[in-house]
Amino acid sequence: MLSWTNARRMGHRLLSATLRCRQCSRPAGDLVGFADRDLGEARFLPLDTGFMPHDLSGELRCGRCSGQLYLDDIEPLGRNVPLEEAGGIPFARVAAGECEIADTSAA
Ligand SMILES: [Zn+2]
Repeated sequence: MLSWTNARRMGHRLLSATLRCRQCSRPAGDLVGFADRDLGEARFLPLDTGFMPHDLSGELRCGRCSGQLYLDDIEPLGRNVPLEEAGGIPFARVAAGECEIADTSAA
């Protein structure tokens, strides 16, 4: 399962990361969440809702090629905003495969 891993030592800081495919190296979207919180609490901002990540045997896979996804370019954001303002959808729902091209109206 994906996690912020090393980012936890950053404490309560807002991070952004790109969820990227190991196989086709396409980004699935961006994640925004706090370093000291579970990744499931992060918000997921899909780049293309037509290719949402999906769960395969407990691993999150690329919507295009089913390759393994990983967190790329983890970096702290300069400001702390409430996660609700980050938009997107709760990552836990994506990980649980509950986000079937639903109209998330991600702004
Ligand atoms: Zn892929």
